[in-house]
Amino acid sequence: MRTVFIIFTCLFLILITPLVLCSANESDKYNSTDADDIWQSGTVFWGHGESIALTFDDGPHPYYTDKILEILKKYNVRATFFVIGKNVGYYPDVFLRILNAGHEIGNHTMSHSHLSGHTFDYVMNQIQGADDVINSLAEYKTRFLRPPGGIFDKNVQSAAKNNDILIALWTIDTKDWQHRSADNIVDGVLRCVRGGDIILMHDYLSGDCHTVEALDILIPELQKRGFSFVTLSEMYLSGG
Ligand SMILES: [Zn+2]
Repeated sequence: MRTVFIIFTCLFLILITPLVLCSANESDKYNSTDADDIWQSGTVFWGHGESIALTFDDGPHPYYTDKILEILKKYNVRATFFVIGKNVGYYPDVFLRILNAGHEIGNHTMSHSHLSGHTFDYVMNQIQGADDVINSLAEYKTRFLRPPGGIFDKNVQSAAKNNDILIALWTIDTKDWQHRSADNIVDGVLRCVRGGDIILMHDYLSGDCHTVEALDILIPELQKRGFSFVTLSEMYLSGG
């Protein structure tokens, strides 16, 4: 009886794994092609089109970010890095290496604070604080905000609109922060990937991390399957 229960549990976990990793590529797609208005919608961007956007949160980090930059260069891929303002302050050289390699920079707040439930002013400070650190190093306008945990409310949406920045979530969560093996990360993505996906990974994790190893398998496999990679701005502006 116990064996039957274990087998049943394993089958159930195998079946729900794709549901855990792949979120619905739900709408809220922004279809305007009006250039003057294009960054002003205050909506949430869920991805669209045929290409894939790799995104890396929580850096820059003096070890992992550089390793990821090496892999991206090896396969001639450009990605989007959602940096934390404080980490940019700690590791300005790493930040500049991301920028100089032609990748897109996104805003992941000043201190990785969850933004929901706070005042409008607090959220503004978190967004502008990160942008200020970035601008102390390079003239750069971030186009996307990724609220930590993907959690946001009306105040966050209003603050994003005030900063001409779009909220960008993801459609595939690799859950690399759970210290999954490289094979597990790769299998999870390949099981559900499709054009228009925004893939969430991290370039700053404490403890065991297999993101770099996974990328070295995942990128060539996706290229072999005919996918190309774009930054979030490129994906957004490509229509859908
Ligand atoms: Zn984060």
